[in-house]
Amino acid sequence: MVFDFTEKEKGIQPRTIWCLGRNYAKHAEELGNAVEERPLVFQKGLNALVPINRTQQLIRDHGAVHFETEIIILMDRNDKGSFITGIGLGLDLTLRDLQSELKAAGKPWTLAKSFDGAGIVSRFIPIKEIPSLNQIRFTMVLNQEVRQRGDSSQMILPLGKIPGYLEEFTDLMPGDIIFTGTPEGVGVLSPGDEVTLDLAGHHMGTVRFS
Ligand code: ZN
Repeated sequence: MVFDFTEKEKGIQPRTIWCLGRNYAKHAEELGNAVEERPLVFQKGLNALVPINRTQQLIRDHGAVHFETEIIILMDRNDKGSFITGIGLGLDLTLRDLQSELKAAGKPWTLAKSFDGAGIVSRFIPIKEIPSLNQIRFTMVLNQEVRQRGDSSQMILPLGKIPGYLEEFTDLMPGDIIFTGTPEGVGVLSPGDEVTLDLAGHHMGTVRFS
């Protein structure tokens, strides 16, 4: 998979998928989690990554599959260091029942977050077309009904500070993607559902589930 940009830009191959959890207070509350200053961080494997604008079969036999709509960041790097090159939208699909079970047992969530198809990504809009990183609005429409509405202004760790936070632990490289956490309104997906994503007035794609 090579990332798409709205304008002609270099194609970048995906590398590492970083994900933030509990970066919006109202979502942390809806799942009964504490609100902390520094969001938690986990990864999805590259196996999880798929483009939007397709029909995707939902994983079966492991309980509820939840959608989490998230702003995603694409990183690049030059001789001065890493920088955000594009902004898109993603769906962090989660096997919620399995995740709750694993959480309760103090075990890692990997299988609940990194099954094939668990990271659905849109194209990326070049950063220079985004007027303010801290005021990016997005919506997720499920079967023609708005189910999630978010704004990067609601993030606990502001969007522009997320790369620096991760860089306390790692050098971010071209093709690294960061899922930045979901606002409230997450819910269950069922076969036949159609999800459309919109970022700052740009249609970012549609995915159908079977
Ligand atoms: Zn998430």
